[in-house]
Amino acid sequence: MNNVKSLLLALAISVVAIGAPIAVAIREAHEQSYRIESMRALSYARDVINRTDETTLQVMSAADTLRKSGAPACSPASVDLMRRFDLTSSYIQAVGHVEGDKLVCSSMGNTRPIPLGPALAHTVNGATIREATDLPGGQLGKLIVLQFGDLAAVIHRDLPIDTRTNEPDVALAVIQQGSRTPIAARGFIDRRWVDRLAGQHETGFVDQGYVVAVARSNRFQSAAVAAIPITYLNSRSTDLVWRLIPAGLLAGLLATAAILYLARQQLSLVGALRNALRSNELFMVYQPVIDMRTGAWVGAEALVRWRRATGELIRPDFFIPIAEKNGLINKLSQRVLELILHDTTRFLHSHPHFHIAINLSASDFNSPHLAEKILASLEASGLRPVNLIVEITERGLLDVHRAREITQRLQKWGIEIAIDDFGTGYSSLSYLESLHLDFLKIDRSFIESIGSGAPISLVVPHIIEIAHTLSMKIIAEGVENEAQHAYLVSRGVQFAQGMLFAKPMTCEDMVAAIRAREAYRPARSEHG
Ligand code: C2E
Ligand code: CA
Ligand code: CA
Repeated sequence: MNNVKSLLLALAISVVAIGAPIAVAIREAHEQSYRIESMRALSYARDVINRTDETTLQVMSAADTLRKSGAPACSPASVDLMRRFDLTSSYIQAVGHVEGDKLVCSSMGNTRPIPLGPALAHTVNGATIREATDLPGGQLGKLIVLQFGDLAAVIHRDLPIDTRTNEPDVALAVIQQGSRTPIAARGFIDRRWVDRLAGQHETGFVDQGYVVAVARSNRFQSAAVAAIPITYLNSRSTDLVWRLIPAGLLAGLLATAAILYLARQQLSLVGALRNALRSNELFMVYQPVIDMRTGAWVGAEALVRWRRATGELIRPDFFIPIAEKNGLINKLSQRVLELILHDTTRFLHSHPHFHIAINLSASDFNSPHLAEKILASLEASGLRPVNLIVEITERGLLDVHRAREITQRLQKWGIEIAIDDFGTGYSSLSYLESLHLDFLKIDRSFIESIGSGAPISLVVPHIIEIAHTLSMKIIAEGVENEAQHAYLVSRGVQFAQGMLFAKPMTCEDMVAAIRAREAYRPARSEHG
């Protein structure tokens, strides 16, 4: 990826990194405000329905007491009782005795019969709700009569909804369910809202610009509705957004800064790698390959290292992918080959059967003159092709026709090919069969699993079998302990690499170690 592309990508990521937290903040603010406003509406509706129930219960209990007292209607004893109810009940304005459509006596004393208004609703618990048309002191429409049998209680119509008076635009109502008759109402209420209960006890929703809550009575067929204008919700949510945005913005900016920092580091790393290829910052280490039957060091894998001018050592796992992504890998591989030949030529002249394995990348296999370049370099240093093994991962062999063309050309000259990290890629048996490769390297992750009992450990014998079937020589990678060693030997695996035998080292160290071993015990065996 070139610099402009990475910068554009970083820019796009920062837009998302800043935008996303803000979008989340706005959404969260809205949801939170809705939760708060609907809880508020619900608490109002509950309050209203409780007041309604409370009033009804007081009237019912008064009617009951009066009936049980046995005092004849409108007798002094009965009027006395009625007065007591009137005085003790917070909700009741007056209590009286009904005959026909008239109040014939009441806690207000025995006056002339007062006609009651038409029935507004009959409740399931046997009460009739009437308008109180002509009561002394009662302004029309303000009072209401709740009648149980022949006892009537006069109450203030607005009593149940006489709450939250400091919030005049909150609409409240008590509505008779079924008939949808409003018993008391304040502000805009749509009667059909009670239908939304649909058998539930309480419900909440947004409709016609209001956050609405409906709560049903536990005892009676009535329900309370509370509706709060949505403007409350919007202003609450705007408040919240303003409080959340700085945090979102900060998170976004931090993410962007981190991304830009990493992008810049990547860019400068690409530059540094380019520079390293020109200067002398790359060097090779060699990890011996052991013949497990004899213990002899029969070859080595060349592994590249990068020591920056700062002294920092960078692992190939980190910079090889960067080289691959930034079109530097062919140059790097060329440099690695030069380094290998420079390091090992003298030693290989004296050890003509020793092999050095070079790691090539998938894109090296796409470079048209790879095989010729390798051969030319070998010839220039006077080495024989049999001294070289090319390691390639399954990824490099994906295009089977191209892979076969190159591997066959290399093999024709005597260079052997190893499939690296086998088992971590996509190779199938038939695919491997068509390539006729020389070595199969079992990936470290499989060797690690030996003896662990993990399901992955079952793969190892399978891989060994594949190699045997295809007459490929096997190199086990990353052998770290005796148990792994013993297992591999018992399965007929001939070659191995790993910390158990030798870690990667400079060419000088390796040559010195080999000479020391030869002085102690002349090498008896070579692979091939
Ligand atoms: P790889 O080809 O699988 O190389 C083997 C890696 O395993 C090496 O890591 C080696 O140091 C490590 N190793 C060896 N024995 C043991 C052991 O017993 N235990 C453990 N835990 N690790 C062990 P290294 O040198 O860091 O290389 C990492 C990878 O970088 C290599 O994996 C290879 O894919 C790539 N690489 C290294 N050098 C080159 C190069 O010159 N060119 C290319 N294209 N890739 C290279
Ligand atoms: Ca390798
Ligand atoms: Ca490997």
